[in-house]
Amino acid sequence: MKYINRLVTIAVAVLMSQSIMAHEGLSDAFHAEVLGGERDAIATITLTESHVDLAHLNAMGMDIAGVNRKANQVDVVVNDWDLERLAQEGFKVSFDKAQKLYDKGLDEEYKNPSEVEQILRELAEANPEIARLESIGKSSEGRDIWALKISDNVNEDEASESAVLFNGMHHAREVMTPEVVIDAAQWLVKNYVSGNEKAVNWVNNTEIYLVPMLNVDGNAKVWSGTRMWRKNTNYGHGVDINRNYPYQWGSCNGSSGSTWSDTYRGPSAGSEPEAQALMGLVSKIKPVFDISYHSYSEIVIYPMGCKGARTGGNRAVVENIGASLGTLVDYEAGTAWELLYSVDGGDIDWMYGVEQVLPYVLEVNSSRQGFQPSYAQWRDVTVERVRPSWQMLLDRMSQSGLRGNLDVENASQWRVKVEKRDAGSLSEIIDYKVNPDGSFHIVLEPGDYKVSVREEGSATRSSSDLKVGSDLLTFEPQL
Ligand SMILES: [Zn+2]
Repeated sequence: MKYINRLVTIAVAVLMSQSIMAHEGLSDAFHAEVLGGERDAIATITLTESHVDLAHLNAMGMDIAGVNRKANQVDVVVNDWDLERLAQEGFKVSFDKAQKLYDKGLDEEYKNPSEVEQILRELAEANPEIARLESIGKSSEGRDIWALKISDNVNEDEASESAVLFNGMHHAREVMTPEVVIDAAQWLVKNYVSGNEKAVNWVNNTEIYLVPMLNVDGNAKVWSGTRMWRKNTNYGHGVDINRNYPYQWGSCNGSSGSTWSDTYRGPSAGSEPEAQALMGLVSKIKPVFDISYHSYSEIVIYPMGCKGARTGGNRAVVENIGASLGTLVDYEAGTAWELLYSVDGGDIDWMYGVEQVLPYVLEVNSSRQGFQPSYAQWRDVTVERVRPSWQMLLDRMSQSGLRGNLDVENASQWRVKVEKRDAGSLSEIIDYKVNPDGSFHIVLEPGDYKVSVREEGSATRSSSDLKVGSDLLTFEPQL
């Protein structure tokens, strides 16, 4: 019955469109608004040549929900216009799972923006010694975006402690992702209080920042009935926050310039208040690591997002940690363009490219669960399965690498250049921009390094040969 209705709708819309076409041509916006309607069903497509097909679907502006790499299938969130275009392009779609997923209704136990705020507020109020709630900015509809900081001396920014960031819900419908980040907050507080040795070490030696729900407006729209909403709600049509970051924005067909698209990159680089809020936090705290939790596909993604692009001198560090994360939670690891398709304007490229963070995306859950699985059945299973991911990075904070503080004016003008010594030759690993508070924390693999410190544009002031082992090495350069 639904299909007949859809066909009638399409026929009527095509007639309307033909009369309008005579006057002003047929725009994408017209297609989306008149022919399209809400993207409210998930269609599954079996791929023949996965990279070619995924690039093709992406270029068509299809709203790709997730992949099942073992079955070589992709789920796409569709409306009538999408179905028509998929048929025209020769894609065969099936719907069996989609209807089951969608007809169940959004499980009330998932959190809306005010419930997230309440949970974080109660956690901070009950544990004021180690937890502090702060707003990092407001959404376009005026909602606060909340960050919980967990650390000893929580009201001080301690230059002797490095920061780490875990965030969820760039995309509104990915309701499992705030659960993962809230679980991390609750786990850390509970286990710190009960004296768990790992939790006590992490909290005492790290500044842990948790942003469970970045896309507060989009999530409110999901709760108001638009279950498959992905973007924020800015300008009415919304922007894909995770295509809006101002690093190689819109550079490689990894986003869309069409307002109707679910990967619309926004009117300008970094235009969106949610992206600005996260960037403000990252630039202030300079986290060593970040995990941005998304759903679904059961993959770990590391930078860079554009086809063929790789991280720089510390590629081995970035990719080996990504691979370890993948092994730990039994997810496949790679760049977005290796595992899926090109992405530009994503948060991890900006974090790596601009702030030298080691950032990862974890796409939790599989296509079997989709975006909104039964809470009772899947919430605990999911958060417990991915706990080792954020825990591994907290452990990694005190392992192989280099940490110190420079007592200088204008610390962020200073650089710590690290070169690896291999059989007599030197290769640059990173030219690290010192944090505003004078600290630096550079993650490395064990080995022999040459470390040079200078003010940008000036001669080297200090040069040392260092051996990095399995623990974090404290290094105070003599300037
Ligand atoms: Zn996502």
